[in-house]
Amino acid sequence: MLHSIPMVDLKAQYRRLKCELDAAVLDAMANADYIQGNAVKLFEKELAETLNVKHVISCANGTDALQIAFMALNLPKGSEVIIPAFAYAALAEVLHLLNLVPVYVDVDSEGYLMRVDHLESLITPKTKAIAPVHLFGECVNMMPLLNLAEKHQLFVVEDTAQAIGAMYCGDGVFGFAGTLGHIGTTSFFPSKNLGCFGDGGAIFTNSDDLAVKMRMIANHGQSQKYIHDVVGLNSRLDTLQASVLRVKLNHLKTFTEARQKIAQRYMDAFADLQGVFVPQKTQYATHVYHQFTIKLESETLRDGLKSYLNGEGISTMVYYLLPLHKQKAYSTQDVLPLSEDLCKRVLSLPICPELTLENQELIIQKVKYFIQNNNK
Ligand SMILES: *Cc1c(COP(=O)(O)O)cnc(C)c1O
Repeated sequence: MLHSIPMVDLKAQYRRLKCELDAAVLDAMANADYIQGNAVKLFEKELAETLNVKHVISCANGTDALQIAFMALNLPKGSEVIIPAFAYAALAEVLHLLNLVPVYVDVDSEGYLMRVDHLESLITPKTKAIAPVHLFGECVNMMPLLNLAEKHQLFVVEDTAQAIGAMYCGDGVFGFAGTLGHIGTTSFFPSKNLGCFGDGGAIFTNSDDLAVKMRMIANHGQSQKYIHDVVGLNSRLDTLQASVLRVKLNHLKTFTEARQKIAQRYMDAFADLQGVFVPQKTQYATHVYHQFTIKLESETLRDGLKSYLNGEGISTMVYYLLPLHKQKAYSTQDVLPLSEDLCKRVLSLPICPELTLENQELIIQKVKYFIQNNNK
């Protein structure tokens, strides 16, 4: 039988939670409170409790969440915001749309995260914010970043689309990813660790003032119905999506633990495999493994492994093919060697709570077979 192993098995997850999900969605349909309905309010409250943050404001998707966050900060045109070069494009996109200037920082080659020790050299009088991305489920080291931000009076906006539920516990700072800076954002895109059945997103903050502003911006800048105080967006989470998310939020801890177990099995299996580097675990945070991303000895080996696995019915992805400063839309003259090198060598393997032991063993066996026969 030809195996076919997806990166994320959303059908299996639906089957597993079918009873609960069907009931929740049918209930929302019957209530007919489709926009800003009861489930939206309950979900915001439950997520705020889970993450121990004062305010959760839901919105239409994770990119809007970033846009609303930066609109609320109201930075002068041309302000610089430091972001990692090795990341998803949403941050660069939003900054460009708002006439802000992304300044790219390189990442470290083991953890794939923004080099916090490189930040200070990039700060200029125009720098107004730092936006760490907790990539692949791993936290940026927030303590030194927050100290630096305070010293230079910068805002911190955390992109937590891939790291919901990751717990940071560096010296003296303790809390969930996305709740440590001024604002955190997340995405409920179906394949994210907490995903809905379409688009969705949310913003976190402990600031009452920012919360009021962001809630207004997400809903046409209205302070009350038909009273528009600021320029806003139409960016709301549907009641149907909130119903799905309430069900899945109850399982998030179990899902995360399943991901961590799968990651550990990969790490054990590849520990002594020459030519394959497994992601480093940090001391200061838990990793929620949105992706399990390995780094190969060379681009040739990476591309070879990818096409071999594809032929064996095993999906893989390259997150990301290009660093942001090499993307046509956002390009700069920067030279950021680690980000550029990673794009040539990384490969993300299937990981999701529904990945079976049998399928994971097959993936491991195929990776080992290919590497042992092709890494001279
Ligand atoms: C998914 C993702 C986003 C965007 O989320 P959408 O809901 O697709 O708009 C932003 N940043 C990162 C790091 C992401 O992974």
